[in-house]
Amino acid sequence: MRYAIISDIHGNREALDACLSDARHQGVDAVLCLGDLIGYGPDPNEVVERVREEADIIVGGNHDAGAVINLDLFEFNPYARASIEWTRGVLTPANRRFLAELRVVAQLPDALLVHSSPNMPREWRYMATVADVEENFMAFSEKTCFVGHTHFPMIMEKGYDGSFRFFHQETVDLAEGARYIVNVGSVGQPRDRDNRACFGIFDTDDQAFEHVRIDYDIDATAGKILRAGLDEKFAKRLFVGL
Ligand code: ZN
Repeated sequence: MRYAIISDIHGNREALDACLSDARHQGVDAVLCLGDLIGYGPDPNEVVERVREEADIIVGGNHDAGAVINLDLFEFNPYARASIEWTRGVLTPANRRFLAELRVVAQLPDALLVHSSPNMPREWRYMATVADVEENFMAFSEKTCFVGHTHFPMIMEKGYDGSFRFFHQETVDLAEGARYIVNVGSVGQPRDRDNRACFGIFDTDDQAFEHVRIDYDIDATAGKILRAGLDEKFAKRLFVGL
């Protein structure tokens, strides 16, 4: 099986369309989504509807939860909070219901899918230190766990001998014996100083993973953010990938 794994689309329809058309062009068998379909971006309804149509498995993220339930928004920074409030106002009841019902963890044969971290999937933690990563490797038994959340594409490897390696490269062979936490990066708001949309392709036969980068029409998305009255910060950051 070849899976396209998308995450952190954040209402960016142009980036989503570009990634999905590339994935389909590459002949993937299925599409998996790791959450944060909405928040920051101008097209939450269109993104929810397209992901719903295209993705075979979807797990929810913190923005999805924040837009639909009475989650305490104080955990979000003021800018993110304002965008979530805007999104709450424009989501259709059907899309809101759909997001509210998303599970937060899903399984493939020998791989786990979660938005933030396998150890506390509803706490929306960031893996910021080696100790965090170590703890998270103990929280799942599959060979590989795919995550999003930080918007930073990254491969975390735990070797046979318990050693850790962190790297950021486009293609990687998932070595036999080693285990992995793979951050697939963000479709709609990359933060690694590369403004191209990012997603992953996971080939289960070859045990290979690839980060794919795709140009999309940033001007179009940024223009819609401004016209919607969302903070211009969310438009500007798309051009620099931060
Ligand atoms: Zn996100």
